[in-house]
Amino acid sequence: MRKLLVAANWKMNGRLEQNRALLQSLKNNGLLELNHEVDVLIIPPACYLSQVSQELVGTQVKLGAQNICSWLQDGAFTGEMNAQMMVDLNVSHVLVGHSERRAFCAESDELVAEKTKACLVSGLVPLVCVGETLDEREQGLLQAVLSRQVLTVAKSLDEEALSKVVWAYEPVWAIGTGLTATPEQAQEVHAFIRSLLATVMGQVAADKLHILYGGSVKANNAVELFAQKDIDGGLIGGASLSASDFLGICNAAK
Ligand code: 13P
Repeated sequence: MRKLLVAANWKMNGRLEQNRALLQSLKNNGLLELNHEVDVLIIPPACYLSQVSQELVGTQVKLGAQNICSWLQDGAFTGEMNAQMMVDLNVSHVLVGHSERRAFCAESDELVAEKTKACLVSGLVPLVCVGETLDEREQGLLQAVLSRQVLTVAKSLDEEALSKVVWAYEPVWAIGTGLTATPEQAQEVHAFIRSLLATVMGQVAADKLHILYGGSVKANNAVELFAQKDIDGGLIGGASLSASDFLGICNAAK
């Protein structure tokens, strides 16, 4: 049995006071009791990592970063942050290859693979995001796109490293649109991703991996999504900015 993981990707949202109030409300309304049954991860903008880290002291809630960072060591790279700096901030997980970064920051599959490796070398868990655009799905390219995205990363790692990666399937057309993949559509793709990984690491190891679903997950669709055999939790955008919505989703993962 894979314990479900629910991750809050705040994206570029939040302010000091707003974050404090959101975290207080999460804590006052059951966040801390959830951890026996569900793993919870909060992924704020980098500038608030310290604040959120402090608010989470003494809890089992994990802290994630939205992007390492450069795949580079320390040096003259203005504006970049590397994996070691994330370790200093108590970060345990890092989003890699989110479709917004692939689209707006031209991040390639190769760069995603480099960043994944950099996370692993520093002991961070990379949460690697993959997913197709609507155009790609309609053109019948779903499997080709996912194969390219998943296998570029998977084949660049040895088996031990690969076993530490968490994956997230986020169909681009479902992100922030209110359109969610149906549980059956999502399950089909998750099973496909797991089968791709099995070709690299074997079925037994692939069966241990977590594959999260992301894209307009809400409290009212989470139960059905999380009930699918190959869906091991959620990566939540918009709904993670409201304590009641996010807790509703976390409760659906119990
Ligand atoms: P929404 O939940 O807002 O669709 O965002 C999903 C996402 O991109 C999480 O990383």
